[in-house]
Amino acid sequence: MDAERPDDRLLEPAAMALRRGRLVAFPTETVYGLGANALDPAAVAAIFQAKGRPGDNPLIVHVTSIEAVYALVDAMPPVALRLFAAFSPGPLTLVLSRSALVPDLVTAGLDTVAVRLPAHPVARRLIDLAGFPIAAPSANRSGRPSPTRAWHVAADLEGRISYIVDAGECSFGIESTVVDVTGKNPVVLRPGSITNQQILEVTGVLSVEKQEFADSSPATPRSPGMKYRHYAPRAKVLVAEGSDPVGRAEFAGQMAAKLHLPPFEIGYFGCRQFLNLLPAEQKVAYGDEPEPELAGRLLFDALRRLDRAGVKVIIAEGLLEHGVGIAYMNRLRKAAGAWQIKGEEDDDK
Ligand code: AMP
Ligand code: MG
Repeated sequence: MDAERPDDRLLEPAAMALRRGRLVAFPTETVYGLGANALDPAAVAAIFQAKGRPGDNPLIVHVTSIEAVYALVDAMPPVALRLFAAFSPGPLTLVLSRSALVPDLVTAGLDTVAVRLPAHPVARRLIDLAGFPIAAPSANRSGRPSPTRAWHVAADLEGRISYIVDAGECSFGIESTVVDVTGKNPVVLRPGSITNQQILEVTGVLSVEKQEFADSSPATPRSPGMKYRHYAPRAKVLVAEGSDPVGRAEFAGQMAAKLHLPPFEIGYFGCRQFLNLLPAEQKVAYGDEPEPELAGRLLFDALRRLDRAGVKVIIAEGLLEHGVGIAYMNRLRKAAGAWQIKGEEDDDK
């Protein structure tokens, strides 16, 4: 359906399925979510089941008004209201202390709950038609790239869920910025399209949680999802870092040479300045020049498309870690790191 004009006649059956405790995938401005009634433990359990998601990784609850947030939380610190006022509806998730209304399964037993007001008109209309808060993680099988188009959802979850509401491509393509506001100072738990700088301008003070945790790590990150393998296509992902497209292409060329693979088995993702310097047969360009917003919007789609094209290795252009570049590099490093965690042998050793 048209992303700007939700069609109630099409959405009503999906809302009905949600009322019956079923699962519905729907678009948001970040990625497609896999929704269920957040207040129904059986429906929430079905999300974990369909995704194959570890039970200790809590879900984000989606609502359409600040009034609805109050029912889910125990306290609303002033900084939370300031952040909601600045960035909601939109790609911001706040971690707040939970109320008794929220089932344990949603929060994975934590005493906090993650809440977001999405901006996507179709997501908002679906939540309002359903009539309750919707718990929705990204609508992919656990560990796979997040879905930014309906076919990505179908590829992972066909046969496991009741409906996919298709409203085309997601505009940000990277998951929401998660900020914990339960402590003395706000903490960014997951970088997203709303940048650290933008948040700092509202809060005046901010810390950023470290992002590297292995599956086997005994450490408990404050955002449990951060320790899990994530965003992994089937192909191995390598990141070509460097200070500009020319340096990055040079590095990419060196990595490619060491792979000893036929050219069509290596896929590339980056801007045209980078790609044009490479003998790439399989490539996805996001634009002419380095631009983290555009790269982030297309990253997960590119990983899935190159997988479909049958490449064995994907070499992606790294970007500078400023602004949205921080979130882009966070996702890309996890997509690359996931391969290492799987423990396969490096061709180069
Ligand atoms: P997903 O919706 O699949 O993109 O994942 C949601 C992210 O939010 C994961 O990284 C979770 O660990 C994180 N999250 C959800 N609820 C909480 C919470 N109560 N405290 C900290 N992090 C949370
Ligand atoms: Mg996810």
